[in-house]
Amino acid sequence: MKEIILIKNGELALKGMNRNSFEDKLIKNMKHRLSSMGAFEFTKSQSTIMVDPLSDDIDLDDATEALSKVFGIAALSRACVCEKDLDDIKSTARDYLQEQLEEAKTFKVEAKRSDKKFPLKSPEICREVGGFLLSKFNHLKVDVHNPDIIVTVEVRDKYAFVRGNNIKGAGGMPTGTGGRAAILISGGIDSPVAAYMMAKRGIELCAVHFASPPYTSELAELKVMELLKEVAQYAGVITTYVVPFTKLQEAIRDCCPEEYFTIIMRRIMMQISEIIARSQNCAALITGESVGQVASQTMHALACTDCAANMPVFRPCIGMDKDEIVAISRKIGTFETSIQPYEDCCTVFTPKHPKTRPQIDDVIKAQQKIENLDALINEAVDGARKVIIR
Ligand code: ATP
Ligand code: MG
Repeated sequence: MKEIILIKNGELALKGMNRNSFEDKLIKNMKHRLSSMGAFEFTKSQSTIMVDPLSDDIDLDDATEALSKVFGIAALSRACVCEKDLDDIKSTARDYLQEQLEEAKTFKVEAKRSDKKFPLKSPEICREVGGFLLSKFNHLKVDVHNPDIIVTVEVRDKYAFVRGNNIKGAGGMPTGTGGRAAILISGGIDSPVAAYMMAKRGIELCAVHFASPPYTSELAELKVMELLKEVAQYAGVITTYVVPFTKLQEAIRDCCPEEYFTIIMRRIMMQISEIIARSQNCAALITGESVGQVASQTMHALACTDCAANMPVFRPCIGMDKDEIVAISRKIGTFETSIQPYEDCCTVFTPKHPKTRPQIDDVIKAQQKIENLDALINEAVDGARKVIIR
């Protein structure tokens, strides 16, 4: 039996004139994601893209799993290819979907006929195939409203396809169709979720992580790389910069009033990230901040960090509760890694009584107490280590 994967793209269908280039980008992303699994042929046909494995040893389970994480796909399904012949369609439906039909209590058949020369019309195909399956699986009942399985028969130009239920796709827009942005990634729960959410809107990611050895360990950094690998299954390749942050944190500790430590550290993170982002053709920064989560994320504190960068800062978690963020992190597979207990540079030198309503003028004055700040920032940017995550 010859099996293929059928891809239904989602919002793409709305894109009018741009639709072709969006579809091409989607196919390029799919090819990239399947490149280590063997050779496939990709064919666009109406609102479907057919993914055809070109050798028998390709594991379609793995391919389906990988494609279910590619943004821009609303739904996908495995389908069996057969001759455009009613008897062949019937026996293929019986054999190919046997296991699922045995498990189901109810079913219905849907037919699509793009080859109008096929002798049976769609309702006749449904009737014929439905009647045949009822005679072969005695326990089954027809339910046209809420069936356990929908058996779909598509009669196309060269072949017919038989398939069972769709698998939900990752949704969103193909990565790369929305430009590039830099995610400030920590080892926590929120920033990987923020990265995923922006990648879902078609944004290609680059990442910046601040490390403060010896206050933060090598294991903490490895944890961040693990998280990025999980995100990369959705977002594709992520060019990552690990920025040495120790000297700057020590300078903040030595020169600034304690109540402003965190907010100044955040501002400097923004400034450094902006420099790296611009060098990477990124048009925005992304953080995992959420209003009110901690003292440095009150509305007043966010206003002080926001104006440190001269580019838009996207905060997709801004209005979410922690349990909503956790639900997404579980879904995308980052949660278990995020909760491993390694320190982040944010937990180094944390003030006992941080200002929750900092005034921007006071913060800037406090920050100016670091004499050689520009030089320290340039040194950190120059010392950043590049890692390609895929
Ligand atoms: P998370 O770390 O998962 O985002 P959190 O509640 O620990 O959640 P904070 O530590 O307050 O959040 O950090 C807020 C945001 O600042 C993070 O979402 C991230 O975007 C950025 N950030 C924090 N620490 C780092 C770091 N070491 N490197 C890069 N960005 C960081
Ligand atoms: Mg954190």
